[in-house]
Amino acid sequence: MSLQGDGPPVLGIDLGGTKILCAVIGTDNHILGRAKRSTPAKEGGQAILEAIVSCIDEALRAADIGRQDIAAAGIGSPGPLDTNAGVILFSSNLNVRDFPIGPGLSKILDRPVVVQNDVRVGGYAEFRLGAGRGYRQVVAAFVGTGIGGCVIHDGEIVLGSTGNAGEIGHIIVKAGGPRCGCGARGCLEALASKTAIGRRVQKAVRRGQPTVLGDKMARKGGRLKSGDLAEAVVAKDIVALKELHRAAHYLGLGLGSLMNAIGPEIVIVGGGVVGALGQPYLDLVRTAARSQALTDPNGLIRIERAALGDDAGILGAALLAREKFVTQHTGE
Ligand SMILES: [Zn+2]
Repeated sequence: MSLQGDGPPVLGIDLGGTKILCAVIGTDNHILGRAKRSTPAKEGGQAILEAIVSCIDEALRAADIGRQDIAAAGIGSPGPLDTNAGVILFSSNLNVRDFPIGPGLSKILDRPVVVQNDVRVGGYAEFRLGAGRGYRQVVAAFVGTGIGGCVIHDGEIVLGSTGNAGEIGHIIVKAGGPRCGCGARGCLEALASKTAIGRRVQKAVRRGQPTVLGDKMARKGGRLKSGDLAEAVVAKDIVALKELHRAAHYLGLGLGSLMNAIGPEIVIVGGGVVGALGQPYLDLVRTAARSQALTDPNGLIRIERAALGDDAGILGAALLAREKFVTQHTGE
């Protein structure tokens, strides 16, 4: 039996560019109360911290307990971070630089706070409580507007010498390919994210290729919604199918390369794109990954969908807080 779910409740906080999710997590990782806020990203660090605190208080009320009943808190945040100091070094989504969110929240709550990259936190939750449960070597990829990742080795998040390892979205899968948000060319994120698919669809629209996505994206300020993409795929829209195949192919190449380099037991694919497109998309990714995985000729490495959905962030943040401050982490 694991002792890691025992003890007083902890807070799990998922800080995103558009929304903040807070939850009070009790014994055995049950969610006792939760709340949600819009992220005041335009107003910067102090406003974000205040929104987090207000979100925490609402989640505590929902759980019918007070701040004094909490043992610790965990925050999953966009990065890069200085995780030792609990500082967000830089985030364009949050409009902050060198913001000490961990110490700031710790002072308000009078409790210890751990800060870790949002995607690493989500991957850790999948490893401990979701699709990766029971495995020790895990690669997780989350495909949405960007592509984030998490590598688990021997039951621990691989953070590397920089503390920020795991950025699998910035593996280059096409030399000289499209420009990525990070400045490089041909990153996985620039070829396989929802943003990348949307960019290609818009190009097709400009070339006059018929697609149901043209009007839908125009109505949403040029943004591609996963649900609209899924509907277009079901309707056998030629442009949607072509771009989806292309994106899945590149994601598979990236994951196959990781399978060769790292040798995980399982690769978990999560995020909005697989959430909307499901098994057919995962099958395409799997085929491309396996075609690449020379170190796994018998196809023993599993490639599966994430299981926790939007709760991965709050659960993972709470787990890290509990393991760091409440129970002894046994690595099991
Ligand atoms: Zn990049």
